[in-house]
Amino acid sequence: MDSSKLDKIISLCKRRGFVYPGSEIYGGFAGTYDWGPLGTELRGNVVKEWTEAMEDHENMAFLDSSIFTAAKVWEASGHISGFSDPMVVCNHCHTKFRADHLLDVIGVVADEKMTEKQINAIFDESRDKLHCPVCGKKNFGKVAAKSLLATSNLGRFEDEDQEVYLRGETAQGIFINYKNVLSLGWYSIPFGIAQVGKAFRNEISPRQFLFRKREFEQMEMQYFVSPKKAPAAYEDWKKERMTYYDRLGVKKEKLRWKQHENLVFYAKDAWDIQYEYPFGWNELEGVHYRGDYDLSQHQKFSGVDMAYYDEETKERYIPHVIETSVGVDRTILMLLADAYDEDEMNGEKRVILRFKANMAPIKAAVFPLLKNKPDLVKKAREVYGLVKKEIRPIVFDDNGNIGKRYRRQDEIGTPYCVTVDFDTLQDDTVTLRDRDTGKQERVKIGEVASVIRKAIEK
Ligand code: ATP
Repeated sequence: MDSSKLDKIISLCKRRGFVYPGSEIYGGFAGTYDWGPLGTELRGNVVKEWTEAMEDHENMAFLDSSIFTAAKVWEASGHISGFSDPMVVCNHCHTKFRADHLLDVIGVVADEKMTEKQINAIFDESRDKLHCPVCGKKNFGKVAAKSLLATSNLGRFEDEDQEVYLRGETAQGIFINYKNVLSLGWYSIPFGIAQVGKAFRNEISPRQFLFRKREFEQMEMQYFVSPKKAPAAYEDWKKERMTYYDRLGVKKEKLRWKQHENLVFYAKDAWDIQYEYPFGWNELEGVHYRGDYDLSQHQKFSGVDMAYYDEETKERYIPHVIETSVGVDRTILMLLADAYDEDEMNGEKRVILRFKANMAPIKAAVFPLLKNKPDLVKKAREVYGLVKKEIRPIVFDDNGNIGKRYRRQDEIGTPYCVTVDFDTLQDDTVTLRDRDTGKQERVKIGEVASVIRKAIEK
């Protein structure tokens, strides 16, 4: 566990405009964060790579479904009755915890899918060994299942003021639109529906920065496939989802597969891709083979026939579903942790984010060597304009000395810095500095953009 690394990342995120605590000027609001300018760019890169990876598939449709949904959706999906976390309160300091997380610390396996009775039994057996992480006392109450669904009210000015659920996952929006998408006519089984969107969960103890938020974003894909072909398709998706992380430049040794020990009753198989975060190995993405449970439930509750007639095999069946589900926020925390490094350059310590160039929030920074030389500033502005025509986003920076500017850009992971100096005024070349090595080379102004573009596309 490297909690100091997490603290350093959190402070860098605030200082350099990646992530701000939600509602900060009012004292903060637990489990929420705002993306700053750099975080917004990084988020955009994550969504772009995921979307492009999904677009590589022939039969992939995209959807953007509502956050507010009829309560029946969550009844059918089982979220109203079963989407809960086991909460336990310390009777001494009154802090709330997830019982499965406390058990995990002492090596006892339990999870949120267990019933209240099951988890209470396990918790009771381990009470002697369980200390409150906040006050250290051994005095916990009973474990209670707490619903994760966030509620709101709609229709206040009409006769009926109804309680509605904010979606707890984006997947249900896909299931309830599966027939609509199919009726377009050009999709046939097997096909997938992909969606990026916000989800909301009443997490008991939002913590570990971006890892467990109450408002977060999911990138989910549901692949509808015939029951016979589903097992092979599941293996293909597992392979593909692990390979996908090469695109993001994530260190291979920091990723691993973990199979679920307690499958929910309807699931055929379930594996998670875990990343070794500064606080240990944890779920980044779920790749789950869910059988026909979701569509069957919606058929039962809505009365709409979800069966598909397969022209090829002349069979009617409810398609099986393979789901890939990954959080934008957990991806970003992974990228930050993976890229964070400290080294020494020219005898000076520096903090550096070694993002793969395509993921870097800012692709290049352009500087005039000196701020108070109008000729240099004018030329640097010209170079900035030229590069910006081809590469975005880039920044112009003339604040502080050149060393400070380099360090600032290293800290946000900008792969290239372009400096306009006195030689530029003579020969139209600039200095191109590489973030990782600090190496500088002279490049013709007209070629700068293409050199940077090539590196980004690698
Ligand atoms: P966990 O066991 O860590 O609570 P989960 O199994 O409930 O996660 P899923 O329901 O499978 O998570 O959600 C799919 C993905 O959504 C997760 O792999 C994760 O990347 C992301 N995710 C889930 N809950 C949160 C959260 N509270 N904050 C940020 N991302 C989340």
